[in-house]
Amino acid sequence: MRCQSLTKFGNPLTAEERPDMTVSGTEVLLKVTANGVCHSDLHIREGSYNLGHGQRMNFGERGMKLPLVMGHEPAGRVIAAGPDAGDIDTSLDYVVYPWHGCGSCHQCKMGRENYCAAPKFLGMFADGGYADMLKIPHPKYLFGIGSLTPAQAAPLACSGLTTFSALKKVEDTIKAAPVVIIGAGGLGLMAIGLVKSMGGLDPVVVDIDPEKREAALAAGASCAIDGAAEDAVAQVQAATGGPSLAVIDLVGAEATASLAFNAIAKGGKIVIVGLFGGAAPWPLPLIPVKAVTIMGSYVGSLPEFAELMDLAVQGKVPMLPTATHALEEAENVLNQLEEGKVIGRAVLTP
Ligand SMILES: [Zn+2]
Ligand SMILES: [Zn+2]
Repeated sequence: MRCQSLTKFGNPLTAEERPDMTVSGTEVLLKVTANGVCHSDLHIREGSYNLGHGQRMNFGERGMKLPLVMGHEPAGRVIAAGPDAGDIDTSLDYVVYPWHGCGSCHQCKMGRENYCAAPKFLGMFADGGYADMLKIPHPKYLFGIGSLTPAQAAPLACSGLTTFSALKKVEDTIKAAPVVIIGAGGLGLMAIGLVKSMGGLDPVVVDIDPEKREAALAAGASCAIDGAAEDAVAQVQAATGGPSLAVIDLVGAEATASLAFNAIAKGGKIVIVGLFGGAAPWPLPLIPVKAVTIMGSYVGSLPEFAELMDLAVQGKVPMLPTATHALEEAENVLNQLEEGKVIGRAVLTP
C-alpha cells in the first residue's frame, strides 16, 4: 500500500510503501477513493493546539503515536473483509464514520463513541485515509453514498457531521424561531442548508466579512448581520423576533461568545463549535439569571452520522465545492490550506 505518513510532529509528510494489510474478525479493508483534507490535520501535523495564555495542548502527550497516517474524512470501496464482518456489498461506494471509540466504556455503549476517553479516531489515533488502503474494525462504520461522488461524500464525515450534530442540539427550537449561526465559512454555509432540510426557519447569520455575508444570503439565510456593528446584538434580536432561542457559534472567539451571550433569550442555548480560542467572557451570575445553556459540540455520534447520510443520499445536504488532488500532493494541499488558499474542501483521491 501507498501512504503519506507523519513521522515527526512539525515535519512534512513522507511517502511510504508498506506491505498490504490483511483482515481478521469483523475488520474491513477498503480501497480509498477519496479523503478530505480537514483544517484540524494542520494541527495534527504541527502536534499541538494553541490554548492561548501561552499554553499548548500537545498531541504526543495525549496519546497520539507516530508514525501516523492522517485523514479522518475517508470514502472507499470494500476489497476484503474478515470472516465475522457479515455480508457487505462490494459494488458500492461508502463513506467511513471515523470517530471510533474503545467500544466498552459507558460513552461507547450509549452510542457516543465520539466522546470516548480512549478514542481510536481514524487519522488521529489509528491510521486514516491519506493512503490507498484503509482498515476499519467493523462494517457498522460504513455508509452508502447513493449518487454522491466519493469526493462529495468524504467531507461529510467531519465538516458535515460537526455542523449537523451542533444543529441537532438545538433542533427543538429551530421551527419556533430562527437559529442564529455565527460564522459564514464552509461550515456556516452547510449549516444554512441543513437547517432547511431539518425543517427549520431560515437562519440568521452573523459574520464580520461582507463577502461571506453575501454568500450566506445566497445560500438562503433570512438575513446576514455584521458582527462588528455597534448594534449587532439589537440587530440579531430584531431578526430573531426577540431574544434568540439558539445560537451556534462556529467561530469560538471571545467576541462571538460575548455576542451570543448578549443576544440569547432566557432558557436559550449557545452551542460552541469553533476553536478560534480565548477565555470565557460571561459574567457568572447572568448564567443562572438567564438560565442559559452553554455547551460545546465536537464532531458527532454514529447515530447522528446515519441520520445525516440519510439526508445526504436524498440530496438534502448542501454540497461544498470540492477540488481533488493526487495522494502524493497531500503535503502541498496542507500548505495551501495553511495559507488560506483552499476554497471549499480539498480532497485527496489516491
Ligand atoms: Zn476534521
Ligand atoms: Zn469508549
